[in-house]
Amino acid sequence: MPEPISESLQKKLSARLGFYEDIGIRLFYRDRGAAAAPESERQPEPPAPAYFAAPEIQKEKPLPKPAAKPALPQIAPVVAPVIPKIATLPVVAGPSLFESVEKIVGDSLLKTREDLGECTRCKLHSTRHKIVFGDGNPKAELVFVGEGPGADEDAQGLPFVGRAGKLLTQMIEAMGLQRKDVYICNVVKCRPPENRQPEEDEVKTCSPFLLRQIDVIAPKVIVCLGATAAKTLLQTNRGISQFRGEWLEFRGRKLLATYHPAYLLRNPPAKSEVWKDLQKVMAVLGLEVKKGKSVS
Ligand code: SF4
Repeated sequence: MPEPISESLQKKLSARLGFYEDIGIRLFYRDRGAAAAPESERQPEPPAPAYFAAPEIQKEKPLPKPAAKPALPQIAPVVAPVIPKIATLPVVAGPSLFESVEKIVGDSLLKTREDLGECTRCKLHSTRHKIVFGDGNPKAELVFVGEGPGADEDAQGLPFVGRAGKLLTQMIEAMGLQRKDVYICNVVKCRPPENRQPEEDEVKTCSPFLLRQIDVIAPKVIVCLGATAAKTLLQTNRGISQFRGEWLEFRGRKLLATYHPAYLLRNPPAKSEVWKDLQKVMAVLGLEVKKGKSVS
């Protein structure tokens, strides 16, 4: 008799399988059901909603009879063979936000954090509990930049630890990475009250520290999560939908903007778009979804 699975593990497995289903990877359910039910009792699979239609996944072939062990359906290669050219966006008129920020020789994350100190440079300091500087691998090839801390992050002093953070963790793990492999930070390091968008003066005051973090880490790829991060780094007023998923350039590095996990919680069908964006990032980083891999 196999050991019963604990309730907490069941919940974790359920959340993980739900995430894979949301981004279009559905064969896990099919395989699991096939293993559990005799063939004569299997129910026909309902048609997938349009946003689940994942061109990468081949249709399941009919089982041969007599039933030899069927081969797992394969996930087609998901990496783009050719990296698209880097586009450029028109920037906001006027002096660049980062014009006066030069690379600091011998800079480090530790020094940047020390220079930030118990910062009171902008009004966000008066309502924060903890500064959320950033977290992860200081030599990461991939840096995620969000907007600002929320309530959970403000309480813990760590980025992306609430519901949206859990979704980001799932996205990172779906890429074949762990959170400790990447670096995660925000445009502003203190929580804006009521989770409002950071204001222009707050972004202007805090973002030079973000710039130092990026310069020190020197990642291969920067992924902006949401419009605030993208507009700040790209210095553009364009809506994120106009350049989401395109390769852009930031201080000589590849940058791609995608939707914020908090937006995905409100709008789950957009997960499949974000997954396509992350596959582009995987291609640049040399990561591939394992063929036929199952999480069940
Ligand atoms: S948001 Fe940035 S600039 Fe403003 S107080 Fe916090 S650390 Fe300082």
